[in-house]
Amino acid sequence: MEERATNKCPHSNLSIEEAEENKSKYMWLLTDPDEFPEFEPCVCTTDCKVKMVKIIDIILYNHYKFSRGYFEDCKMVFGHGVKGLSLYEYTNFIKKNRFKERTELLTNLQYIDGKVVRLCDVPKENEEKNK
Ligand SMILES: [Zn+2]
Repeated sequence: MEERATNKCPHSNLSIEEAEENKSKYMWLLTDPDEFPEFEPCVCTTDCKVKMVKIIDIILYNHYKFSRGYFEDCKMVFGHGVKGLSLYEYTNFIKKNRFKERTELLTNLQYIDGKVVRLCDVPKENEEKNK
């Protein structure tokens, strides 16, 4: 890998607000070691550190939450010959409240009171109600 010689702060174009608004925005920057916005001695400040910690929390926690949930919520399906679920599709089921035939077939997500919910987030009393 080529040495990146720069004396410009690599964090000036990154913002917490944009990370909040679009949680996949900086994913590639933070997960590709060749793109990772390294700390530049003599240029970067404490503000860079604080900002980057917040951005990493927002972006990677979001990715962690949905990618972990994806596997937790996948259903064992045999003999249907259906196409698998993408992480994007799964995320949309939850974020955009989309419950379709595929949701029911491929995940353990439930549609309760007009909302897509993760089975593991359903309170016990609700489980009782549905029996
Ligand atoms: Zn910086």
